Amino acid sequence: MKIRSFSILSLSILLPALALAQSTPQSIVDAELPSLVTIYKDFHTHPELSTKEQRSSAIVAKELRTAGCEVTENFGSYDNPEWKCYGVVGVMKNGDGPTVLVRTDMDALPVQEQTGASYASTVRMKNVDGQDVPVMHACGHDIHMSALIGTARALGKLKDKWHGTIIFIGQPAEERVGGARAMLHAGLYDRFGKPDYAVALHDDAETEAGKIAITEGYCYANADSVDVTVKGIGGHGAYPHKTKDPIALSAEIINAWQTIVSRENNPLDPVVITVGSIHGGMKNNIIPDEVKMQLSVRSYKPEVRERVLAAIDQVARGCATAAGLPPDKMPDVKVLKTEGVNATYNNPELTKRVTAALKSAIGEENVIHKDPTMGGEDFSDFSLPDHSIPACMFNVGAVDPAKAAESKKTGAPLPSLHSSKFLPVPEPTIRTAVVGMTATVLDLMKR
Ligand SMILES: [Zn+2]
Ligand SMILES: [Zn+2]
Repeated sequence: MKIRSFSILSLSILLPALALAQSTPQSIVDAELPSLVTIYKDFHTHPELSTKEQRSSAIVAKELRTAGCEVTENFGSYDNPEWKCYGVVGVMKNGDGPTVLVRTDMDALPVQEQTGASYASTVRMKNVDGQDVPVMHACGHDIHMSALIGTARALGKLKDKWHGTIIFIGQPAEERVGGARAMLHAGLYDRFGKPDYAVALHDDAETEAGKIAITEGYCYANADSVDVTVKGIGGHGAYPHKTKDPIALSAEIINAWQTIVSRENNPLDPVVITVGSIHGGMKNNIIPDEVKMQLSVRSYKPEVRERVLAAIDQVARGCATAAGLPPDKMPDVKVLKTEGVNATYNNPELTKRVTAALKSAIGEENVIHKDPTMGGEDFSDFSLPDHSIPACMFNVGAVDPAKAAESKKTGAPLPSLHSSKFLPVPEPTIRTAVVGMTATVLDLMKR
């Protein structure tokens, strides 16, 4: 009896010491996962629109503080002074060494959730234009926040394995873009230091949970919004010869724009010109005075971006001149500076290093190549416009493997990001995200 109680006692002293000595990202995640999934479901049930991330940012701040960070809240300032910036900066210091920035975004989307999950959102809130809209985490930024918290917890417990400074970022307003810029404009790097590396993750609606997909080089595009007003000289629909019809002219301009992509551009440099909105006229028999269009223009290289935006203006003017419009009725082409986002460039050297770290953390076969897309991401802002801070963003599979296999078999597409039916499988997704990000940071900061 005595011997037995002695051995239990010594075991109970030895076991925690043993566990501490053998702590790994994997073992820490095993312990933290139930709490992280609870946090994730809470975020999912309580989504907030871009620039309105008050509750989410407070939770991120509180959790980062508990994990051992010095936290600054409400950091950042938008161009629009009416918007409050809910940026969170959590600094975890551990002696001299490199500085690594790890970013999550925090905002949700105006989507009515239709996943049927027990923790689905029924939230409605007013958007920046004052409209009452449904809100859903349809892009998985709730996964990103939970993963950031898990990563901070893990790295707080693994301080014997790294040195330097980690800057955890809770970034607002990714979906509208502008949140990263708001934090940088407020002097993020002056106040907290310029990082040697910037890393982030996004969940992936095409990849099975348990896997991470990664792209070397450009992975997201320069995305520009362009507003165009095509002017004409209105009149009676029966007397077109006495007018300059802006609707017929707009049709010509739209076709001519497509030849910028197909004839003027090197086919090896991807470009997209989408006219997403066109409005002109009120009635069948009236030729209007103007047509308004809204374009989304995508590219990778800065020089291609500049040339395509200039060509859009030039082509519109050329078509208007050919239609006989006078100089004071040339189309008005406006590139919306506040809505533009720079391409995300995964620094090749850093990406190779991150890929190797991910492979050793989650298995060679679970790290796969991902093709670049023409989507936009303002994570790019953290690497600065000249990409002088090496950055890398990887994509964490969020799809139930059985559903992914079924989709491959039947060809029926899975719900995409921003879909009302997009629902990550929480446990394996968060586990892989935390293990992957922790292993990445450990590799960049190892002793
Ligand atoms: Zn999104
Ligand atoms: Zn997103």
